[in-house]
Amino acid sequence: MDAPLINIKDISFEYEQTKALENISLKVEKGDFLAILGPNGSGKSTLLKIMLGLIKPTKGTIELFGEDSKNFKNREWVGYVSQKSNSFNSGFPATVEEIVAGGLAKKTGLFHRLPKNYKEEVHHALVAVGMESFTGRSVSELSGGQQQRIFIARALVAKPKVLILDEPTVGIDHQNVQSFYNMLASLNRDKGITLVLVTHDVDTVTDKITHVACLNQTIHFHGFKDQLHTMSDAQREAWYGHSVRK
Ligand code: ADP
Ligand code: MG
Repeated sequence: MDAPLINIKDISFEYEQTKALENISLKVEKGDFLAILGPNGSGKSTLLKIMLGLIKPTKGTIELFGEDSKNFKNREWVGYVSQKSNSFNSGFPATVEEIVAGGLAKKTGLFHRLPKNYKEEVHHALVAVGMESFTGRSVSELSGGQQQRIFIARALVAKPKVLILDEPTVGIDHQNVQSFYNMLASLNRDKGITLVLVTHDVDTVTDKITHVACLNQTIHFHGFKDQLHTMSDAQREAWYGHSVRK
């Protein structure tokens, strides 16, 4: 059996005044589609930043692909779309193609150099998120959900093994959320991309995910999605921080 792609071992993290995470352990295996749930302020974004190596835990260790993350220098394993990425002001001039190509640009000294076949690579990434007919459009003309897909394409174009998304449906119209998750599920199923996402869309993701992790001040839980279905209403309320109908 391969080592987990991400193995978080008993980590804690404190900002100057705030304990954000306490004694969290979590494994992400190849092919997983993991949803991280929890009320606002429960440390979900902090946990993602720790997985990404953007911040170091105050306690505990992280292994990536079986190696201590301290020794793991490869940054290409992961694509990340942060919370509220889709907030271009109107008038932002970049086209969809330019934004997605940015995910391929390698910094070489002062220059960003694109590979020769970048148009083809950008096209494949846009097809994967269902946005290939928008190539020449300005991103600021697109809806929140369309912009979110463009950011995912920008991450995908670098061919990551794992895609990490922080509340990706926040700017998406309610009626488009289902098709957004269908797109993510096909990345997971058809392209074999391991997905980790923070979300509040408990009811919509349940059919798509393979695993769930819940964070709140008192309960930490990581298990299979089936366990979501067997929770009592009181447990669901405790885990999500608000009541959620099945
Ligand atoms: P979530 O994503 O679940 O809403 P966060 O990981 O953003 O939670 O935050 C966890 C806790 O850490 C919260 O209490 C939040 O106020 C605090 N926090 C988050 N970012 C910072 C920061 N940069 N400086 C200080 N405290 C922070
Ligand atoms: Mg957050």
